[in-house]
Amino acid sequence: MEFELWYLLAMPVLFGAGWFARAFDIKEKKSVADETQTLYKGLDLLLDDKKDQALNSLVNLAKVDPDTVELHFALGALFRRRGDYDKAVRIHNHLYNRADLPKKERNRALYALGQDYLKAGLWDRAEANFKKLAEVDGEYKVTAIKELVNIYESEKEWLKAIDEAHILEKVTGETYPSRISHLYCELTMQCLFFKKFDEAAGFLKQAIAADPQNKRALIMQGNLLQKQGRLEEAVEVWKKIGKISPQYETLVVGSVAETLLKAGKEEDAVRYLKSVAEQGINADSVDTAVNWLSKIEGPEKALEVLRRYLEHKKSLIGFKRLADLRLAQDPENKELKELDEFLKRQIDKTVRYKCSKCGFVTKSFQWQCPGCRNWDSFAPVRSEDPSRI
Ligand SMILES: [Zn+2]
Repeated sequence: MEFELWYLLAMPVLFGAGWFARAFDIKEKKSVADETQTLYKGLDLLLDDKKDQALNSLVNLAKVDPDTVELHFALGALFRRRGDYDKAVRIHNHLYNRADLPKKERNRALYALGQDYLKAGLWDRAEANFKKLAEVDGEYKVTAIKELVNIYESEKEWLKAIDEAHILEKVTGETYPSRISHLYCELTMQCLFFKKFDEAAGFLKQAIAADPQNKRALIMQGNLLQKQGRLEEAVEVWKKIGKISPQYETLVVGSVAETLLKAGKEEDAVRYLKSVAEQGINADSVDTAVNWLSKIEGPEKALEVLRRYLEHKKSLIGFKRLADLRLAQDPENKELKELDEFLKRQIDKTVRYKCSKCGFVTKSFQWQCPGCRNWDSFAPVRSEDPSRI
């Protein structure tokens, strides 16, 4: 009985408390619902590519709830993407300096800051941030070291890039022989430019030691031997390249022919050039071989070789060479001159080297793609892409 009385007396109080709690709950739910609504609205605007409106919507939301970490990261990335690097840096700096955040989130902010500085072209600041991340174990360590290698490559700080690439090997347990070999090749080129020949030879040795199959290093080794008058050795080194990768023969056909002629081995040169043309690996190697054959034996014999290739493989580069050789025989032929000019224009417009990783196209052959920064992603073969005509 007593219990029932107490219960009856307490009812209005309990009811009042429940009503108050419910009101509080509704208020909170409403606020969360509003925020979610604003967030969705912002994301919708983003999807519609209305970046300015999306930004306003998200900024308003960040004002309502300044503790929303994810939202701040989203905002920072958005500011960076639209080129507002100052604002992106301010947001990511704020997150990095928040002592209440877990270390993981602060490292994430530090990485985002590095990205902001990279995009803004402030490489020294980006480098400083990535260095901090590279020194601590965590989710961003490997990515930060990779960024450091990229930065040093872009700054042509080849030794630093090599050091960092070795650190990356240790941390990941993977090896990067081709990349490191290319970095030593770059160092060799730098030394050759400043006429530091001994240092250049030392770095070239390291390039070959890092990757004995690196075609670029072998080309450079052949060049060095040729300059030292060691002609037969140079030819031997260059000939290795075609065996490693037949497509790359095209880069040394001219050097082999020229050096054999210099060594007084004309017959060997002709035999070599004819074998390159007969193999017909690609239009460029045939083109160079036929051009040299024409210089040695005259256009008539070179034409015979070229016609045999063109019977099997039609190519703009081949027909341009055909027109050149015919013009050499008949220099006043107006129609031939026009055809030659036309083919030259078509080649200029349509024939390109293409990166196999990102599709970047260039007129000249590259060891490193200017688009995606990958090494060896271009084959030294020009493609005749009709869609570019
Ligand atoms: Zn690329």
